[in-house]
Amino acid sequence: MLSEIKDITESLFPRLIKIRRHLHSHPELSGQEYQTAAYVADVLSSCGIQVQENFGKTGVVGNLNGNGTDTRLLAIRIDMDALPIDELTDLEFASCKPGIMHACGHDVHTTVGLGTAMVLSQLAERLPGNIRFLFQPAEEIAQGASWMLRDGAMHNVNAIFGLHVFPSLQARSVGIRYGTLTAAADDIEIFIQGESGHGARPHKAIDAIWIASQVITTLQQAISRTQNPLHPVVLTIGQINGGHAPNIIADQVRMSGTVRSLHPDTHANLPQWIEEIVANVCNPYRAKYEIDYRRRVPSVQNNIELTRILESTCREAWGNEYLHILSEPSLGAEDFSLYLEHAPGSMFRLGVGFPPDKPNYPLHHSQFEIDESAILTGVITLAYAAYKYHQYFI
Ligand SMILES: [Zn+2]
Ligand SMILES: [Zn+2]
Repeated sequence: MLSEIKDITESLFPRLIKIRRHLHSHPELSGQEYQTAAYVADVLSSCGIQVQENFGKTGVVGNLNGNGTDTRLLAIRIDMDALPIDELTDLEFASCKPGIMHACGHDVHTTVGLGTAMVLSQLAERLPGNIRFLFQPAEEIAQGASWMLRDGAMHNVNAIFGLHVFPSLQARSVGIRYGTLTAAADDIEIFIQGESGHGARPHKAIDAIWIASQVITTLQQAISRTQNPLHPVVLTIGQINGGHAPNIIADQVRMSGTVRSLHPDTHANLPQWIEEIVANVCNPYRAKYEIDYRRRVPSVQNNIELTRILESTCREAWGNEYLHILSEPSLGAEDFSLYLEHAPGSMFRLGVGFPPDKPNYPLHHSQFEIDESAILTGVITLAYAAYKYHQYFI
């Protein structure tokens, strides 16, 4: 099966490059993936795959039936949205839309997903079970997965695979990780209510700016003294507003930030922990506070068995040299984790980096580029892993 998958993918490669370049030059922002979704639906239909459009707002679902030997359903998740960035590459297929760019490689993901659908549809009679392709919108704003889930994306799904491009690894390589891959990311807003007064008479006021500074300092110190250092927490206050004039004590401060963590238990306890610290700082000085803690996405916890399938896929397809067992998780976040609340899954990193003599820009950079040979690696890895999943338990 592996050699058939490789042969078909190689014969499709020129078409896949065209698809990727078309998608790259026509990026669409989160929640506005209308043309991309129509394009995806067209390609899927042309492979004989049953398509549901307007799924999860601007998402597309494709259902591919295997030969029925295995009754389990495998989902493959692909994200399609681009970023509000002005593209500064000199590619001939650079974005034709000012201020919008595929700088996170979701054009590559979409191409790899379509390529996988094309390859597996040609081999459907030998594919033991069914596959559901989830082309989701709005990953960059961490909402697309919940839109897809609300429309039943994971209904009857037994397992799910996903991928993300990874410029730190050279093209042809694949990175996998057992357990934690990415962090939980939440939003926090803290409002401090003091009492204004004359800058010369602090004892007759409640200084919200000074209290806010204590809150920030105490939170950062408390991380190092009360959180398990093996279960990292990163709290970044990225925005702070308050005060009216240099000689007036501020009555209000509003600050907002992001809270990242890796361990699910730590993640579960963060709102209560933050509330206790803020209360302990504010109460002695009679300041009032409000905390708006919004959970966005949990951490991606890759399932061991499914990661093992990815590992053996890569060892067989690419040899040990191109397989990287990643030693560290990322404190970045992925809404792929929301699907994992419904079924086990595993997400891999697709190397897209150039050899060291060419610059490699990070994700979300206005000059981000990929080595297109990675598309071949992505399709073969995903298609063969899907086949192996259905083979595995038979
Ligand atoms: Zn991104
Ligand atoms: Zn991304």
